[in-house]
Amino acid sequence: MDDTPETTPALTDDPRPSGGRVADSLVLVNTGNGKGKSSAAFGVMLRALARDWKVAVVQFVKSGDWKVGEEKIGRRLGVDWHSLGGGFTWDSTNLDHDIQLAREAWAQAAAILAAGEHQLVILDELTYLCTWGWVPTDEVVAAIVQRPRHVNVVVTGRDAPQAIIDIADTVTEMRHVKHAYDSGIMAKRGIDY
Ligand code: ATP
Ligand code: MG
Repeated sequence: MDDTPETTPALTDDPRPSGGRVADSLVLVNTGNGKGKSSAAFGVMLRALARDWKVAVVQFVKSGDWKVGEEKIGRRLGVDWHSLGGGFTWDSTNLDHDIQLAREAWAQAAAILAAGEHQLVILDELTYLCTWGWVPTDEVVAAIVQRPRHVNVVVTGRDAPQAIIDIADTVTEMRHVKHAYDSGIMAKRGIDY
């Protein structure tokens, strides 16, 4: 399945294939167990902002205790930021309430996709809502497929459902090789959040 060359290209090799077509928009999925899914999405956010695109970020899961640095800078740079994970963090106890909030959060994200006001919409940690069965994967797939053609989408989260992988243009699996957490090091401000 993976037919990308394993070896490092020589410095003189231009890695860009010639004669490709231009897409109206792309769907990216960052999945896997290693670190880097959300941070890569925020790297794309910066590229989009550099092109004066309108960008929306929807965050579906958020640890209540963390002050999320990317939100602070994103808002300052004019990103429409929707932090919708407040109600259903890992420590929540009322599951029905959480599911209801998750569905409302997804409805809001679907509306943002359909509105077409942004050239980039980042759906951070969306995969969990599908994996937990809170939001039907079919609905997510339909909303992405039916989006206005100019809307680029980035989805992040572990265990991306196959149906979302199938409709994406670029899927990257972050592979866990080593994480500071494994040796007992806590999440670090400025690096992890
Ligand atoms: P990041 O936001 O740093 O790009 P991520 O989006 O790939 O990470 P998440 O699953 O969303 O990863 O986890 C968010 C937090 O958990 C981050 O602080 C990250 O450093 C940490 N984390 C990510 N991968 C691992 C891992 N394999 N083991 C322990 N902690 C991890
Ligand atoms: Mg993440």
